[in-house]
Amino acid sequence: MTQIISRPSDTKLSQFRVKGEIPVPLLIGRLTLAAVPILLFFAWRSLDRGFAGSATILIIFAALLSVNGIIYLASHNSTLQRRGFITVITVLFTYLAVNAVEDGSAIIWLFAYPPIIFYISEARVGVIACVGGLAAVALLFSPLGDMVFDTPYSTSFRLTMLAVLGFEMFTCFVLDQSRRRSKLGLLKLAAEFEYAAKHDALTGLYNRREAHEQLETEYQRYMRNGRAFSVLLMDIDLFKSVNDNYGHHVGDETIMMVARTLREQSRKVDTLSRWGGEEYLVLLPETDITEAVQTANRIRQAIASTPVRAEKRTVNITISVGTATIHGAESVDRLLQRADEALYRAKDMGRNKVCDSEGSFS
Ligand code: GH3
Ligand code: MG
Ligand code: MG
Repeated sequence: MTQIISRPSDTKLSQFRVKGEIPVPLLIGRLTLAAVPILLFFAWRSLDRGFAGSATILIIFAALLSVNGIIYLASHNSTLQRRGFITVITVLFTYLAVNAVEDGSAIIWLFAYPPIIFYISEARVGVIACVGGLAAVALLFSPLGDMVFDTPYSTSFRLTMLAVLGFEMFTCFVLDQSRRRSKLGLLKLAAEFEYAAKHDALTGLYNRREAHEQLETEYQRYMRNGRAFSVLLMDIDLFKSVNDNYGHHVGDETIMMVARTLREQSRKVDTLSRWGGEEYLVLLPETDITEAVQTANRIRQAIASTPVRAEKRTVNITISVGTATIHGAESVDRLLQRADEALYRAKDMGRNKVCDSEGSFS
C-alpha cells in the first residue's frame, strides 16, 4: 500500500511538550524562588562570620537572579530568561568553587549544575557546559590553579570531587538522552494517532470525519464573510465491475489513482477526502458554481484519460460528479444533500458526467 502524504518530521516534534512535563520557564522560576532565600541565608551567615565581601557578592547573585525573573515576568521572553539564568548560575558556581566559600564546602553545590543544565537546555549545550565545567574544576585543582587561587581543598577531596562530578555528569547525560528519546517516541505516537484519525489509510486523503470538520470550518467562514464555497461529490462509475473483473487489488489501485489525480488537479486550498468506498468529496473554498463545474469537468476528463494498469491489461475508468454551491442560510447537510441528488442525476444521464444542483449537466 503506498503512503502518499508524509508525516510530521522529528525536528518539528521536538518543539512540543508532552503532558506532565514541567515547562522550562516555570522550572527556572521555581529554581529562582528556591535559590534567592538560600543565597540570602548564606550571605547572612558570611556577614555573621565577618566575611562582608562574600556576603555582598552572594546578595548580588540573589539580586541578579531576581532581576532575571522580573524581566521574564515583564517580557515573557523565555530564551532571554534561560540564557540569563544559565549565565548567573555558571558565574555563581565558579565563584563558590574559586573562593572556597563556607570553608570550601560550597563547591559541593556544583552537583546541582548538571541536572539543571541538561533539563533547561538542548543536549548539545548541556554536554558543552558540563565538559567545560569539569575541565574548569580540574584546572582549579591543578598546580596551575594553586598558583593563582588559594584554596583549602585536600588532594583526596580534589580526586573524589572530580571523579564523582564526572560520574554525575555522565549519568545526567545518559538519563537526559533517555528522557528525550521517550519524549520523541510519545510525540511521534501522538502524531501518528492524530494522522490516522484524520486520514484514509489507503489514499492518504482526509477521511469523512475530517471532511465534516473542514466543511464546518468553511461554513463558519462563509457565515462571516459571505464568500460562497462549493462541493464536488464524486463516485467511480461501475466500480463493482472493476472488482469483479480484475480483482480487489486492481479496485484498490483504481481508488488510489483517482486520489492521485484529484491531488494533481486541485489547488492547495481545496480539501480532498475519501467520502466512502469509491466516493470522494472535494471542498472548494471561495468558488462559485461555474468554477466548480469547470473544476469537476477537468478532474473527470483527467481520470477518464488515466488508465489503471492491471497485470498485462489496462483498465479505463470514469467518474460521475454532483456539484453544489452554498447559498443563503442553508445548512451543510442541505448542501451535501443537493450535491448527492446532482450526483444521482449524473448517473441517470449515463455516467461520466458532471451535474450541478441547479440541474444543468455536462
Ligand atoms: P455506479 O456507477 O452506480 O456507482 O456503480 P458501482 O458499481 O460503482 O456502484 P456500487 O455502489 O454498486 O459499487 C461500489 C463497490 O465499491 C462495492 C464495493 O465492494 C466496492 N468498494 C468499496 N470500498 C472499496 C475498497 O476500499 N476497495 C475496493 N477494491 N472496493 C471497494
Ligand atoms: Mg458509490
Ligand atoms: Mg460507483
